[in-house]
Order: sequence, then C-alpha cells, then structure tokens
Amino acid sequence: MFESTSDRLTGAARISKGRRTRRCFYVTIGAMMAKAQQRAELLEGRPVADAIKKEVAAEVSRLREQHGVVTRLAAVLVGDDAASAVYVRNKVRACAEVGIESDKIDLSASTTTEELLAVVRRLNADDNVDGILVQLPLPKQIDDSVIIEAIDPAKDVDAFHPTNVGYLAMGRPRFVPCTPAGIIELLDRNQIEIAGANACVVGRSQIVGRPIASLLLQRHATVTICHSKTRDLPAVTREADILIAAIGRPAFIRGNFIKPGATVIDVGVNQVTRVEGAREFFGFDADKRIEAIEKRGYTLVGDVHPAEADLIAGRRTPVPGGVGLLTVAMLMKNSLQAAKWRRGL
Ligand code: NDP
Repeated sequence: MFESTSDRLTGAARISKGRRTRRCFYVTIGAMMAKAQQRAELLEGRPVADAIKKEVAAEVSRLREQHGVVTRLAAVLVGDDAASAVYVRNKVRACAEVGIESDKIDLSASTTTEELLAVVRRLNADDNVDGILVQLPLPKQIDDSVIIEAIDPAKDVDAFHPTNVGYLAMGRPRFVPCTPAGIIELLDRNQIEIAGANACVVGRSQIVGRPIASLLLQRHATVTICHSKTRDLPAVTREADILIAAIGRPAFIRGNFIKPGATVIDVGVNQVTRVEGAREFFGFDADKRIEAIEKRGYTLVGDVHPAEADLIAGRRTPVPGGVGLLTVAMLMKNSLQAAKWRRGL
C-alpha cells in the first residue's frame, strides 16, 4: 500500500529544475523523513499494571487490617508446558507483590479429568481459598469444559465459568476475563474514548475475542467481530477507531488493515525465530530483537505488524510490554474482588 521510496525519489528528481523545483525537492525529502520517523504512540502496559497492582495491594492490606481477611489464590498447573509454567510463576510472583497469599499446585502431565476434578472440588470447599485458577491449556486427556464448569463461580477469577460468561453477555458482569478487563483499563486510563467509537475485534475466542466485544458493547462502542471467515478483512478493520487483534498469527494485521490514527490493541503473543522475520517486523528496532534471537533463540511479536502499524496507527500496544502485563494485574484485581464478594464486603 505504501508508495516506494525509490518511486518518490524518481518523481522528485524529475521536477528538480530551477530554484523553485529544488525547494520542492527538499520539501518532499523533508516530508519523507518526517514520515519515516513517525511512530504511533506506544500504550505501555507497565504503568497501568503497576497502578492497578498498587491499588489492589492497598485494598488487600486494608481487608487484612480491618476485617482480618487474608486473600488467597490457588493456582493449579497440570503438566510441564514451559509457557504455562512461566505464566503461573508470573502470577504467583504478582500475588507476593500485592500481598495475596498463593498456593501453587503442580500436577503431573498424566493427571486425569477425575483427579483434577477432585482437586477443584477440594479448593471449592476450602473456605480459606478465594480464587481458583486452573492454567490452560490442559493436557489433551482432560476435558477442560468439565473442569471449568466445576469451579465455584464465586471463586472463578479467570471468569470462564458459564455463569460468569452469562452475566457478562447480559451486560451485568461479575468476574470478567483478565485480558479483556485489562484492555478496558488500558483504554480508560489512557483517556481513549470508547463510547461511540467504531471498535473491531479480530478473533472470537472465549477468553479474548467474545468477552472484549461484550465489554466494548457495554461501554457503547459500535462493535464488529471478525474471524477466519470474514470477507475482505482489511476493508472491515480499516473502519475501526479501536482495533483489537486476538488471532494468534505473527504480524498478521498489516498497515493496510489500519485506519490512520486508530488505536490498535495487540493481544497476540507469537515467537519469531528467524532473523529475516525480525528485520521485516521491527524496522528501526530490529537490532535488539535480532540480538534476542541470537541469544535465546526467539523474540516475541504480536498479531500486528509493528513497523507498519507505527506508520499508520495513532497508538498501539507493544509486544511484549503491553496487554500481557495487564492480564496478570487483572487476575490480582479479580482475586481481591472474590475475597470481598464471598464475605459480602
Ligand atoms: P484462538 O486461537 O482461540 O482464537 C483465534 C481467533 O482468531 C479465532 O476466532 C479465529 O477465527 C481467528 N482467526 C484465525 N485466523 C484468522 C484469519 N486469517 N483472519 C481472521 N481471523 C482469524 O486464540 P486466543 O483468542 O486464545 O488468542 C489469540 C492470541 O492472543 C494468541 O496469540 C494468544 O497467545 C494471545 N493471548 C495473549 C494473552 C495475553 O495476556 N497477552 C492472553 C490470551 C491470549 P475462527 O473462530 O473463525 O477460527
């Protein structure tokens, strides 16, 4: 979609006769340089996540002091998936930061649905446990819908239980899934107006696409949900003032998918292992990404092409450092909420 640099240079050189045309040439070069340096504003997750965690920490400590309530989250990790282990470790670490007690329960990769059900039932019955988190995905012999539906909706801090999904769909949310809830916080705390905006969500998963669409609708956006069968996707996404990408495909949303000045929220987390990939996706930032590939074998890219989005979008979230940090902060907020609601506080 972009006019190439060499096309522009040829055009400018052709008219470079006399002082006026020379001036015109320099103006063109100046405009090109300004365009090359134009970057979308980065919506960093860190300051928003830190602010949320600080608020949660203050309330957790107030509950302890004024009501003797110790907020507690149980995190269940089944199997040895490396990414899941990192996610659970980060969640447990965040609990420690905000003063929430956590129990990490590690189960073997061969755990059966019945065995995991027994653990969930024990945690449901334990009055000291406020929130239950079963890290997904589960090994394939386990029926994850049976497990999700077994979690007490009052302790369902991931908000995947049909009761909580139903409340959200009705526009009366109780627990809200952490990633979508974090996106709303990010928009609100950056004063990005949702009411009246055209919002487009690419992806219709239970954990991101559908719930973020519900939340945006509840906040009076005009919402379009896209998926793998959407016709002429770029034409649809280009209408969006707020574009949410939750697809799971590296750098899938290119510059021509984005309305100039739009706010682009990139939920995707994908590994890039090829140096050429990093060079293509990250433009001016490629060097440190290539260094990361050389050091640990990969770097991360979202579902949005960062170098192209930078030239078109008004604001975009980085990957890493964007939505992912908010997901963990919102889990803390949901755990605190569970502790309060369970006790009628
Ligand atoms: P899913 O795989 O469950 O859903 C992907 C969605 O993208 C589907 O609805 C699918 O459509 C749609 N899709 C796939 N291909 C296309 C296409 N070519 N055009 C349009 N739509 C398409 O993914 P999740 O929602 O679970 O996750 C999405 C991404 O977000 C992943 O990279 C994941 O790692 C990341 N993630 C990040 C989190 C964070 O905290 N940062 C938290 C959760 C997820 P269809 O329904 O038609 O198949």
